Parts: sequence; C-alpha cells; structure tokens
Amino acid sequence: MRYVSTRGGIEPVSFSQAVMMGLATDGGLLLPESFPQVDAATLQRWAKLSFQALAVEVMQPFVGEDISREELVALVEKSYASFSHPEVTPLVEPGNLRILELFHGPTAAFKDVALQFLGNLFELLLERSGQRLNILGATSGDTGSAAIYGVRGQERIDIFILHPKGRVSPIQERQMTTVLDANVHNIAITGTFDDGQRIVKELFNDLDFKQEYKLGAVNSINWARILAQVVYYFYAWGRVSGGDASQKVSYSVPTGNFGDIFAGYVALRMGLPVERLILATNRNDILSRFVNSGVYQTGEVHPTISPSMDIQISSNFERYLYFLMDQNPAKVRELMEQMGREGKLEVSPEKRAEVAALFHAAAVSEDETREQIRETYAETGYILDPHTAVGVHAARAFPGAICLATAHPAKFGAAVKEAIGVESEPPPSLQGLMEKETRCAVLAADAGVIRDFMKSTLAD
Ligand SMILES: *Cc1c(COP(=O)(O)O)cnc(C)c1O
Repeated sequence: MRYVSTRGGIEPVSFSQAVMMGLATDGGLLLPESFPQVDAATLQRWAKLSFQALAVEVMQPFVGEDISREELVALVEKSYASFSHPEVTPLVEPGNLRILELFHGPTAAFKDVALQFLGNLFELLLERSGQRLNILGATSGDTGSAAIYGVRGQERIDIFILHPKGRVSPIQERQMTTVLDANVHNIAITGTFDDGQRIVKELFNDLDFKQEYKLGAVNSINWARILAQVVYYFYAWGRVSGGDASQKVSYSVPTGNFGDIFAGYVALRMGLPVERLILATNRNDILSRFVNSGVYQTGEVHPTISPSMDIQISSNFERYLYFLMDQNPAKVRELMEQMGREGKLEVSPEKRAEVAALFHAAAVSEDETREQIRETYAETGYILDPHTAVGVHAARAFPGAICLATAHPAKFGAAVKEAIGVESEPPPSLQGLMEKETRCAVLAADAGVIRDFMKSTLAD
C-alpha cells in the first residue's frame, strides 16, 4: 500500500515512511492510495474474531510489505496487553443504549487505542533503521498522557510534553508527572495551552534544531493513529450484527479533531455497513456547523466540561475534504488556501447534500450534556463521562446507534459529580495517583528556554 498527500505534492510513500513523516512535506495529510475492500463473507468471518485477531486483519493490507504478519501480530498483542478488559473495547448495553467502551487503556481515554499501537510501531521502525526520535508535543490534557504511556521506557525515544501549569485537571497532571521513566520529560510551562502549541510550532520550524535533534510528533494527524481506530468500528459491528452484512449500523462519535470519526469513514469506505455517522460536538461546533451549512469556519474556543473537544479547527478534516472533492488535490489546495486567507471555506450545495446524506451532526450544550448524564444514570445506573454524554445526546433520534465512549467517567469526576451527585469508581490505572512520586520541570513559556532544556536533558 502506498500513501499520497491530500495536496498532491509528494511522490507516493510506503506505510513506514508515512508513519515517520506524520504531516506530509507539502503541508497536506497522508492517505492510502486506495482502500482494501471487505465483502460480505469476510465481514461474517471478521465478526467472530477477537479484537486482536481482527486488528491484524484490518491493518494488514494498510501496512503492506513493510511489516510482516508475524511482526504485526506481535505489535498488536503487545499494544493491547496494556488494556484492563479482555475484549479491549467491549460493547455494553445499559437500558436500550449501545455503548462502545474505548477507555480501558492505561490513561482511561480512547487515545490509548491508537497511541499504545503507535508507540510500539515507532519502536519497531526505529530499531530497524537504527535511529532515535525525540517526540515533542503540547497537551491540554488527554493526548499528552496517552502519548507518554505509549512510549515510556523505550530506548530509542525521548518524549517531551508541555502542559500549561495549573490548567489541566489534577488527575490529568498526575497521569503525566507520575511516569518516572528516564525517557519521559514533563514540562509545566507558566502559560496557556496556546503558548504550548506556539512553542512546539516554533521549535518544529527551527529546521536545524529539528534535524539535529530528530524531532517527531504524535499528534492526531499520524495515519497510524487513524488506522488503529478503524478496528473498533468493525469490532462493534460484529457484536451487534452477528456478522449479517445486511445489518447497517449508525455510530455516534464525540468529535474534536475529526480523527475518531474519520476512522469510521475509512471503515465505511472499506465496506462496513454503516447507516449514519453521527458527529457530536460540544459548544465548539465548527464541525457540526459544517455538516449543517456547508461552511467550515473557525470560531472562538469556549471551555466546556468535555475539554478534549474544545477545538475550533480540526486537524483531520482535510482528509475528509479530499474524498468529498473526489480525491482531487488541486481542489483541496484551493480550499485550504482559501481557509488560510479568509478563515473559512464553503462547499457547493451538491457536496453539502452528499455530506448530509452520510453525517448527522449536532452541537450539544453544557446543560444538555449534564442532563444526559443524569438521565442515563437515573434510567440505567450507568455513568457516562461528559464526552460520551455529548455523543449519546446527539444520537437521541437514532435508536440502536453505537455510541463511542471516549473516556472513563472517573477521569472527569468533577463534572460527573456535579450532574449526578456521585463519582464513578476509578479504574485501577487512576487509583493512588495523588500519592505517587512525581517529576516535572517548571519552565517559562518561551521557545528558547524549552530548546535549551531539551538540549541539556539530551546531553546527559
Ligand atoms: C481526543 C478526545 C476526543 C476527540 O477525539 P478526536 O479524534 O479529536 O475527534 C473525544 N473525547 C475524548 C475523551 C478525547 O480525549
């Protein structure tokens, strides 16, 4: 399988090149040249597989010859051994809901599904090439801890994660700073998340530094992250359809960067019987506005009780745009340039109709989110985290839809408690965090300061 850029400016690359490249060098995003097709007989067979066995089947054609089947099996086994549930992503049915629990990994949010895999994949590819990698990222909470857990203890990788001091939840902060492996470097900057992002961008733009120090990213644009997420769409379908290819299912996905829901779109393109993809946003509604109006336009970011979706520009959206524009990179370039100039882009009424035929979108308010947590708890005793509640609320008109549960409710305990008066029992990974030893450097929100810190840390 070869990978191309949404902007058409690179020669096709292999899977491992795509993984190491992250963002395409022409500024676009990488996508497979074509999608492997899954027929009814294969769907039926896949419906009986364990999560791990299914992951190998789904991923194999995408990794192509770069990684042998044996290596892929080993990667998958290792990546999902860190999950506390034997099914990895179990489907539960409280009342008449269908909830796909994606939060049984080490940091209790769905990003583990992708980042456990990506961490091990990096390790394999770096061992092969004899190279090292220094991962640099800024986090507002969930991504940083999932990335740290994905690469902790690895010999060929150091990871530097910036978080805004005092502005992530206490649990999120502890999840990061209690990881004491020598290759993990937490930095609390005295500034905001935006400062963190700006610093990371500046350091990536310092090409000498970037090359000499082999900087890499783990943000949600890495193709391997999307690929790992495709698996649970098939897995969930198998649980509810019994393998009957005539059974179409809808999925409700709490969305921020369009990563998770794009994985659902990939599954659909491969032949998964999807009825609707329900795109659920909180108040930060750039994506639901796009589905409902055909206009993609950034707005102000509002803090909410589902903070991992407080995003007003979705880094994976360009991947979908590429398919909506019939895989025409010139058209994507034109629209993205317009976006850069005017802060908005618009698609034709025909294209808008095409979007609306597949996606249903809703922006869910804070009150509606809390009400959903309350209602589900009162009716079934099941506790939704605020992100999941956004998705469940958006799916109200779609009975039988599979709602993706993206975080464990104990991870966002304060918002849950505010809604229902009780907190959810924390999973083992979140227990005792407050008593553990921590390590974290506190530094000024300045790119030069961070660069010096990285240099001196790596010189030791
Ligand atoms: C990151 C995250 C999301 C949004 O996922 P995208 O891939 O950015 O759409 C939703 N819920 C939680 C808990 C997250 O951590």
